[in-house]
Amino acid sequence: MKARDTYSADCPTCAGSPTRYERIVSGTAAMDGRATDSGGLVTDCLLITCEHGGKRIPAPYRYLFHAHQALLDSHCGYDPGALIMARELATLLVAPLVASTVSRLLIDLNRSVGHPRLYSDATRKAPAEVRQRILEHFYQPYRRKAERLVRQAISDGGRVIHISSHSFTPELDGKVRDADIGLLYDPARPGEADLCERWKASFKACAPDLRVRRNYPYAGKGDGLTAYFRLRLPPSAYVGIELEANQKHVLRAGRHWTGVRNVIVESLGSALASRCAGTSPNADTAQGPRWWPNIHVTSAPGGKIQAKYRNQESCPHRPPRQRRT
Ligand SMILES: [Zn+2]
Repeated sequence: MKARDTYSADCPTCAGSPTRYERIVSGTAAMDGRATDSGGLVTDCLLITCEHGGKRIPAPYRYLFHAHQALLDSHCGYDPGALIMARELATLLVAPLVASTVSRLLIDLNRSVGHPRLYSDATRKAPAEVRQRILEHFYQPYRRKAERLVRQAISDGGRVIHISSHSFTPELDGKVRDADIGLLYDPARPGEADLCERWKASFKACAPDLRVRRNYPYAGKGDGLTAYFRLRLPPSAYVGIELEANQKHVLRAGRHWTGVRNVIVESLGSALASRCAGTSPNADTAQGPRWWPNIHVTSAPGGKIQAKYRNQESCPHRPPRQRRT
């Protein structure tokens, strides 16, 4: 077999991988009823976003936060762990990433214009022209970039699968949240319900000790970037899911948090693969071939997650090395 024949567009270790995730699936795999093109093909395009990736306050606005430093450093200021999770999803699943490291307390990129919590206590009372400048400099460019990628994929005949990366505090108002991972979606959108069911089943196969709950700790239908797209795009063209990771895993850091992130990527890859293949979401993916050949994930007794990346050299899609003569 020639090296060129072994190339896989799905494999992130292959040389010359595309800059975005593309998967050509047969028309029968269209789970949400999207009409297929004349060739019977639909292209799914994955997009990763991260609205709450950091707690940065640009210099011209720092004066607004002198009394809010503690809030800025807390889970209210940003979503710890969400950015690295988004970056790894984008890198390993070869998808474009739209991310912000500006604090949600400056302006919340996951709230609609006009929403009472678009601005925080620190910025809500700022002069109207200051708020307008924040909107124009930070909010609108982010939203435009995400929208451009979504519209472009759809105009190319694709269906967008948008994963918005977030994390949640383990305890809120004295109440402990009892999930490790939350998958937020709109139950009225069949494509979203289907993908979340598959993703949850994949988590179970990869790491049975992780508790995954759907539409927890928040309802998926609430205001946000996914809701913005749902209002404008039909279910056949847009699938939007908010991924929520419990910050207790981020705080444990080290190998544990790395392992959880690897499981997140692996399970999403398996869920997308089963979706494309049209197989049952309850199929035991652990016994089937791994979609991403360079990731190996196992879960050990006691909830410890072990995950490691295989040496790139072992990737079956990688072209053989040229021998020196
Ligand atoms: Zn968030």
